[in-house]
Amino acid sequence: MDTYNIVIDDSMILNVINTDMSESLDLISMQMFLYIGFLGVAPSFVIYKTKIKYRGAKRELLSKLKLLSLTLLTIISIIVIFGDFYASFFREHKSLRYYANPTFYIYSAIKFIRGNEAEAATALTIVGEDARIAATDEDRELVIFVLGETARADRFSLNGYKKETNPLLKKENVISFTNFWSCGTSTAASVPCIFSIFNEQDYSDSKARHTENLLDVLTHAGVNVLWLDNNSDSKGVALRVPYVDYKTTKTNPVCDTECRDEGMLSHLQDYIKKHDKGDIFIVLHQMGNHGPAYYKRYTKEFESFKPTCNTNQLESCSKEEIDNTYDNAILYTDYFLSKVIKLLKENDETFETAMFYVSDHGESLGENGIYLHGMPKFIAPEEQLHVPSIMWFGNNFHNSNISNLTNKKNNTYSHDNVFHTALGLMEMETENYINTLDIINTN
Ligand SMILES: [Zn+2]
Repeated sequence: MDTYNIVIDDSMILNVINTDMSESLDLISMQMFLYIGFLGVAPSFVIYKTKIKYRGAKRELLSKLKLLSLTLLTIISIIVIFGDFYASFFREHKSLRYYANPTFYIYSAIKFIRGNEAEAATALTIVGEDARIAATDEDRELVIFVLGETARADRFSLNGYKKETNPLLKKENVISFTNFWSCGTSTAASVPCIFSIFNEQDYSDSKARHTENLLDVLTHAGVNVLWLDNNSDSKGVALRVPYVDYKTTKTNPVCDTECRDEGMLSHLQDYIKKHDKGDIFIVLHQMGNHGPAYYKRYTKEFESFKPTCNTNQLESCSKEEIDNTYDNAILYTDYFLSKVIKLLKENDETFETAMFYVSDHGESLGENGIYLHGMPKFIAPEEQLHVPSIMWFGNNFHNSNISNLTNKKNNTYSHDNVFHTALGLMEMETENYINTLDIINTN
């Protein structure tokens, strides 16, 4: 909390449950050990070693009661005298309770456990069993959905960022949506929400876990669905579809200090060739700009902006160094997305091809002393919620509405639009499809 200015709410506890070794190691530092040692272990040891003389139960109880009543009296008089001030103060600063230690994280932990208990009893609700490919659709679809990580809309030069962070994508015929908003501020919160049928008002994490998602609907219609993951995992979204972990050298041929996003593309052409019937929908879950060790997220040739911040101790770097490092990782995503487009182009003859990219959430880079992400949504700064989203279409993509997309690039969209837009891209017919939420098929 002190280093990254985060709060420990129930969704942060969800993150803790969902994390893995490499993600946790990125957060651990020498400073953290010193901090815990000097301010935690050392004082605890002193207290432990202090000899306490008890004066007998009766006297102890009496003196505790005295202290307690004095404290209560003080609190009551403060409330009576300054009541109006505190009432409006807490109303104006609701977020204060998130910082109250240790009560808030104890409260959050109980809330999290209760939520999980209630959900354990619920069965899975089937969605879109009626889904089928439109009869008018004769061509095969090949759609790659790139699920980005921790990318900020304002760091894409396609959206007007002053540094050139999209040198490769700008050469492609892409549409960049400038006004796209995430449903959560962390991977564990956003990913299930992106693929969920529920819109933001109806959504809850436990409902999502007990309801089939976009990938299930596509599967019902006979689409070949595949999830490749170079992030933590699919957060429960890909439980019922083929899934391959690319964080290991066993599957990913492009690994140096860590396995790279582009490794997910290495066997895709074989996969596409092998599946010679039906539509194909592939999700690529990126490592992207996952922090705080941004410098680990790209190789040397992407170190264009210097000086960089080569530590996970963000507060020890200058704002310029943090920005440069973060932007270099955006450059790597620019490269990765251009490689996805290249792969789709190679299959343009046989398929109607499209790429749909959207990040799961944004990132705070030290604005107002806040770092990383995961703030409760209603107090989260814009940087954590405003995400980049990009579409690209192959020459044979049959939808006259795509020519109109450039006019919609500044419209307000959110992760709520993903479910229905993906169904639209795949030309799905199902009672669950809501035309007005499909970015492509509405005006
Ligand atoms: Zn994330």
